[in-house]
Amino acid sequence: MENIQAACQEHICNTYARLPVVFVRGEGCRLWDDTGREYHDFLAGIAVCNLGHAHPVLADILCRQAKTLIHVSNLFFTTPQVRLAAELTRHSFADKVFFSNSGAEANEAAIKIARKYSKDRHGLGRFHIITMKDSFHGRTLATLSATGQEKVHKGFEPLVEGFTFVDFNSLEAVEAAITDKTCAVMVEPIQGEGGINIPDPGYLKELKALCESRDLLLIFDEVQVGMGRTGTLFAYEQEGVSPDIMTLAKALGNGLPIGAMLTTEAVARTFVPGSHATTFGGTPLVTSVALGVLEHIAEASFLERVNRTGHYFMDRLKELQARHSVIYDVRGRGLMVGLELTRPGQVIVEKLLKRGFVINCTHEKVLRFVPPLIVTQQDIDRLIEALDAVLKEETA
Ligand SMILES: *Cc1c(COP(=O)(O)O)cnc(C)c1O
Repeated sequence: MENIQAACQEHICNTYARLPVVFVRGEGCRLWDDTGREYHDFLAGIAVCNLGHAHPVLADILCRQAKTLIHVSNLFFTTPQVRLAAELTRHSFADKVFFSNSGAEANEAAIKIARKYSKDRHGLGRFHIITMKDSFHGRTLATLSATGQEKVHKGFEPLVEGFTFVDFNSLEAVEAAITDKTCAVMVEPIQGEGGINIPDPGYLKELKALCESRDLLLIFDEVQVGMGRTGTLFAYEQEGVSPDIMTLAKALGNGLPIGAMLTTEAVARTFVPGSHATTFGGTPLVTSVALGVLEHIAEASFLERVNRTGHYFMDRLKELQARHSVIYDVRGRGLMVGLELTRPGQVIVEKLLKRGFVINCTHEKVLRFVPPLIVTQQDIDRLIEALDAVLKEETA
């Protein structure tokens, strides 16, 4: 194909504002385009390729499994799926797992199980879920309805009934929004698409106490923050609190499509044969790779390194903040880092790309850095140098 970018416009729905690069290869934290140009990847396919590109162990698992068994459906038992579920529950609060193919579908499962659990316990009519303003939970009808951002709703009304939005970090707002129809509260432990918004100390713990006192389920959407991103395997571990339901996806397969809804035995019991299903959920192919991902990321030494590298990154960005008044705030946890500017950030993203650095901008003004977790201090030094130069240029 001669011109990929023109052919894309001709044949693919115009739902993405793509940057003008055709990537053809990756290795670790590096990417290469079709002209042979090398890039430092500080996006990891939006917090997906946490172990980097072309990971040799994962590639081996994938090849071996592809030559053994890719798919048979959930009408039968398969070993990798059960082993992955056993490991996910061993490493988390959860007792049971439902596998899906994406973050949105993991959240669909969470919404469905919360509604059914409530109906089993309290009868019909108690199905409302409180979620947060600036949240992001996916693009299916139920999950876009759960998302507290008008731009995600626009054009798709009527929305799925029963979602109420309140300010993130406001316990009072949640309390005020609870009615006799409320069955659950859903929250990202750190808001990703909403601009890397960190919970206030104690907020999530108090939210759990509130949910318990009102007999509501607490759902943590860890689709972006899970799988080592914040320096612990799951972000909730740093809050001294566990949810009733947790969803995972992005980094779970390091790029293979997989999502998971994890929950307690008490909640899981409401799902029986026929309650919920998906053809592709938990195939031997994706679960064997995800098992390899989990084994790697759950290592204490790996997570320690994420924390060290994350602190180094934040320190270097704060140094930069001291020299550039256009930087309004630097915040993050582990290797989930946001740099809020006083102005729109897309121009910075484009200028960094021209210099060979891949990042993105979310919520208009927040530069988002979610590199592969194997990023080195030297990679970070190079990014800081380029960012420094770009910010100087922009404010000159
Ligand atoms: C990306 C994301 C989703 C949606 O995941 P998809 O795989 O794109 O459906 C849901 N929740 C959060 C927090 C996300 O970051």
